Amino acid sequence: MVEYGSEVYHDYSMPVQIEKKGIATAKTISEAEREVKVIRETDVIVVGGGPGGIAAAVSAARSGAGTILIERYGHLGGMSTGGLVNIIPNLSDIYGEQLIGGFCQEVIDRLAARGAACFPEKRFWGKSEKEVVDTYLKANMMHFYIRKNKEGKYVVLYTAVIDPEVAKDEMNTLVLEAGAELLLHTWVTEPIMEGNTVKGVIVENKSGRQALLGKVVIDCTGDGDLLPGTGTETTDYMVPGSRIAQFGFVYWLANVDLKKYDDFVNSEPEKYEEVTLEIIDMGGWPYFCRGLLKQQEGVVWIHRLIGSLHQTDAEEMTYVDVKTRNQSVRTWELLRKYMPGFEKSFIMLTAPQLGTSGGRRIVGEYFLTAKDIDTDRPFDDTIAIFADNDRGEMSLRYPRTYIPYRSLIPKETEGLLVACRAFSADHEFSEFFNLIPHCMCFGQAAGTAAALAVKEGTGVRSVDFAALRSELLKQGAILL
Ligand SMILES: Cc1cc2nc3c(=O)[nH]c(=O)nc-3n(C[C@H](O)[C@H](O)[C@H](O)COP(=O)(O)OP(=O)(O)OC[C@H]3O[C@@H](n4cnc5c(N)ncnc54)[C@H](O)[C@@H]3O)c2cc1C
Repeated sequence: MVEYGSEVYHDYSMPVQIEKKGIATAKTISEAEREVKVIRETDVIVVGGGPGGIAAAVSAARSGAGTILIERYGHLGGMSTGGLVNIIPNLSDIYGEQLIGGFCQEVIDRLAARGAACFPEKRFWGKSEKEVVDTYLKANMMHFYIRKNKEGKYVVLYTAVIDPEVAKDEMNTLVLEAGAELLLHTWVTEPIMEGNTVKGVIVENKSGRQALLGKVVIDCTGDGDLLPGTGTETTDYMVPGSRIAQFGFVYWLANVDLKKYDDFVNSEPEKYEEVTLEIIDMGGWPYFCRGLLKQQEGVVWIHRLIGSLHQTDAEEMTYVDVKTRNQSVRTWELLRKYMPGFEKSFIMLTAPQLGTSGGRRIVGEYFLTAKDIDTDRPFDDTIAIFADNDRGEMSLRYPRTYIPYRSLIPKETEGLLVACRAFSADHEFSEFFNLIPHCMCFGQAAGTAAALAVKEGTGVRSVDFAALRSELLKQGAILL
């Protein structure tokens, strides 16, 4: 018998080395000065509709601020839908205590009510119920669901999987129901600055180049696209080969006969190993997770990771997309030909968005570092508590990590909050805490703080911490 759970989900690789043209000529041109139409004047502008952006827009609008959410694609969800990375992990710690609630839990509840989210029942969190543990091992989801407790036993975490298509619809509803305006198919290209204060944003879309003015702008682009135009301090330091130094290309295969595959794996383990190695030799990647959603019988997910230290470089993105798309189709061709169970499979979907894990980050009012993971120290302005589940023995000793509001505030720029992967943290901190649930927490806090700042007529830097925490607690955030 093959022991499930031993398959490879990760293969973090070293950064690609490619020759780039970069700026290939010495020429420059002067753009003609022009008037740009201001299409909106509002309280809060949220840029980017990923996990951080949706939470920010909904929270700002629910707290009474006039809010607009701008997204470059035609759907919301960012990586959690368009990137097909639809697993929301680490909602509980290893001991089974839920640490992330609030907006993230609301999204899961709303999707579960539509049969579009699944997760282990609460009674199993932190427990080692064999049948439940085995389900996730067999799905090759160990990385997301299973950890070892102090006694060395496998225990189950509270992690949810969501259906990305239903999620896109539900996220539109959440934003519009909250009273925020939504502007899709619109790229935000730069901030509008007055001195060191952000006053709005410039956008480009099929209607042309336009401007929006706002009292607070929240950068939820994941990559911190607004930051270079503000002059605020940033870093993109990453360790080659680490998790955040990877692009991801995710795709799903459907119509896989998993019973036939399992029979093959169990009855002929040596032959299975042989076929697996042959497929790798021929340029494929035969490791996969099983789609856990009930409606996904016969669907498997393949996550290919490609090392990169330049995840906002369009030439590198182009190279990676072309190469991994080719490799993905090759993998399917090889699986179909050589792996029992895959004969009638087909490529159901490749992620519309290339997966980005790293990118720019602010060096903000509080810069989170590895030291903060090891102290389990609350702050006066704690806006979220994250479960530290990924560091083995250290996680058992220090299961909680606290996030201060100041890690969303750039140091010298006014009128701006950052509520996405680009929050203020070093590479070691980001490695563990820039996932979907974390970004939803940043967004919820930033949207609520922006609305408070507008209401009180203060800058975002001067928001009263106690008032912010009290609002977040009312919204179901877990802060104690
Ligand atoms: C391969 C891979 C697997 C992963 N697996 C998981 C996982 O299983 N679970 C998990 O929790 N996390 C996972 N992550 C990480 C997680 O997906 C991201 O960290 C998370 O989505 C970040 O949320 P965000 O809101 O910061 O950014 P994003 O999800 O990137 O959302 C940013 C949004 O802003 C929009 N946008 C960007 N720039 C602009 C612009 N200039 N103008 C307008 N709109 C713009 C984008 O289109 C997007 O909708 C994975 C990442 C990768 C790469």
